[in-house]
Amino acid sequence: MTNPNYKKFIEIMGDAVKEEEKLCRYTSFKIGGRADLFYAAKDIDSLQKAVKTAKDLEIPVVLIGAGNNILVSDEGLRGLVIRNECRREIKIFDKNKILVDAGIEFSELIEFAAENSLSGLEFASGIPGSVGGAVYMNAGAYGSSIGELIIKGNVIDREGNAYELDKKDFSFGYRSSRLQKSGEILVSVVLALEKGKKEEIFGKMNEIIEIRKSKHPSNGIPCAGSYFKNIAEGKAKRESAGLYLDKAGVKNFKAGGAEVFEKHANFIINTGNAKASDVLRLAEMMKKSVKEKFGIELEEEVIYLDENLLLLKKK
Ligand SMILES: Cc1cc2nc3c(=O)[nH]c(=O)nc-3n(C[C@H](O)[C@H](O)[C@H](O)COP(=O)(O)OP(=O)(O)OC[C@H]3O[C@@H](n4cnc5c(N)ncnc54)[C@H](O)[C@@H]3O)c2cc1C
Repeated sequence: MTNPNYKKFIEIMGDAVKEEEKLCRYTSFKIGGRADLFYAAKDIDSLQKAVKTAKDLEIPVVLIGAGNNILVSDEGLRGLVIRNECRREIKIFDKNKILVDAGIEFSELIEFAAENSLSGLEFASGIPGSVGGAVYMNAGAYGSSIGELIIKGNVIDREGNAYELDKKDFSFGYRSSRLQKSGEILVSVVLALEKGKKEEIFGKMNEIIEIRKSKHPSNGIPCAGSYFKNIAEGKAKRESAGLYLDKAGVKNFKAGGAEVFEKHANFIINTGNAKASDVLRLAEMMKKSVKEKFGIELEEEVIYLDENLLLLKKK
């Protein structure tokens, strides 16, 4: 441990803080070196305390959810990684609104809505991760995204101040939200859904899960979903990056332990011992092919966390 303030952070936050924790345990890619400090926040007060304490001690912080959309450096991360595990509350009010903590699994929210005959989230069936990660990314599928359903949320800033944001404040766009610029941490969110028929909602969810199963890697295969965003450049409507990648002939590309998934050219999979550097190398090869063949510059959807906690979208 190089930073003398790490010891002070541990004294203040207690035994729950881990040192030199392997981050590959917390990412769906199963890739990533060690974090200097790692803290799993189980409730909002301890999340807020950890953020404030790190700020006072000038320790850089990165927040993660369930780790399904990140690629962590092989060298790990210098500073503190906070994993949001605040999963206390999920409830219905005003008949069609759901208040949900950001650490709750997105799939739990979708099931909860369906069990209570609330429709609107079916499109997201099968998207892994936490509610916080979904809002940060404005996760979506089949032309819909979570931002459309959100009416407000509670956040804390990097100084530890808590406040509410309205829907418009979130500035949702395609796989983007205000949180990506502000660094604010979502602690809970309110969604407005529509009354529906339980069997129809579950029917739609099952249909979508079956479609996803036929195209996506099965649960046991480490990956982080679509690696690149769909293409907007010069298009009236976003077009599938997967199709362009396929036409560019990347399906047999590999680098070290990283490979392009055979059924979907926009998925990079870890075949067992891939390093982050392999994934980055492979992604560059894929981008280059699409650029050469179609003149299109792909943009990463997966977020690369480099050693120094800068959120880099690799160019
Ligand atoms: C097999 C597979 C299929 C996928 N399919 C889809 C899909 O169809 N559509 C889609 O959109 N995505 C898809 N993804 C990507 C991923 O599931 C989503 O982006 C998901 O919403 C990420 O949530 P997470 O909790 O895992 O976030 P993480 O990967 O942990 O974090 C992603 C980003 O969100 C930030 N973040 C996390 N929690 C919070 C919070 N509480 N407050 C502020 N920032 C936060 C992190 O700092 C990080 O920058 C897929 C991934 C996999 C592995």
